[in-house]
Amino acid sequence: MDISNWTRKSLLGIEELSHNEITQILELAKLFKKETEGDMSNKNYLRGKRMVNLFMEPSTRTRIAFEVAAKSLHADVISVAEQSSSLTKGETLRDTAMNIQALGADAIVLRHSSPGASLFLSKIVDVPIINAGDGAHEHPSQALLDLYTLQDKLGTVEGKKITILGDILFSRVARSNFWALSKMGAEVTLAGPSTLVPKQFESMGARVSHNLEEALQDADAVMLLRIQHERQSSSHFPSLAEYTKVFGLNKDRKQWLKKGALILHPGPVNRGVELDSELADSPQSVILDQVSNGIAVRMAILYLCTMQGATNL
Ligand code: ASP
Repeated sequence: MDISNWTRKSLLGIEELSHNEITQILELAKLFKKETEGDMSNKNYLRGKRMVNLFMEPSTRTRIAFEVAAKSLHADVISVAEQSSSLTKGETLRDTAMNIQALGADAIVLRHSSPGASLFLSKIVDVPIINAGDGAHEHPSQALLDLYTLQDKLGTVEGKKITILGDILFSRVARSNFWALSKMGAEVTLAGPSTLVPKQFESMGARVSHNLEEALQDADAVMLLRIQHERQSSSHFPSLAEYTKVFGLNKDRKQWLKKGALILHPGPVNRGVELDSELADSPQSVILDQVSNGIAVRMAILYLCTMQGATNL
């Protein structure tokens, strides 16, 4: 596969990516996915490269998937969590990253609670920075794996109606997905209570809905989002029970969905809050496909960013 026109060293967000760049990542992910079904033992794509996972916020799927992705390409992986790093001793993020670079890292995968943390580091160190979630700003690898899953199931997202339902205001997944889906030609509805889905999102080109039935009825896929308690300093609705009563997706409300509409969730799922178990575990749920596809998508991201400048795979 020709990758000579990939010019980005870091992956900071989806907003700055072109349709072509998104397509290139997904095409490469497809190729890697196929390869991982076979014998990878002699596929030394990133042998000798050192990836550092620097996770300053909790993570299960993203951290493990980046680790598995790097190992599948035969890179060396070092994972650092905040509690075990010198950040707890007062070292700045800048100094931590400079030291990781001095220790010979070839890429840093960063998760941080501050929006813009990845952009900040990308201006300080020379190694590629992969944004694994920066506050409520962006989570590019999540949106790319969501797109991969939707394309895989629907053929294309062009012209498809996708509803993202939940805590849009504080969700980086919502932002990255909005950019990814709309750049690829989908019609995106952002839905939830007005306090979490302000009308201002319309100026980005999204449809905003505060009516669950209306938001669900013509959707080809619905993506549920958890309430991001860790980023809310005050409550944006009377109680969690109230939220579930009005916006939770359950068996009764499933009838508002088109037959076969897909159900997505980036995880972690709060069962019985934003999504009931019957639906999370139903045949139309692609939640675990999202998780598995995350490996190939992250292999593609790691490969393109660390081998940028190469011509061929
Ligand atoms: N895992 C996703 C994230 O890191 C979604 C979530 O936490 O709700 O943003």
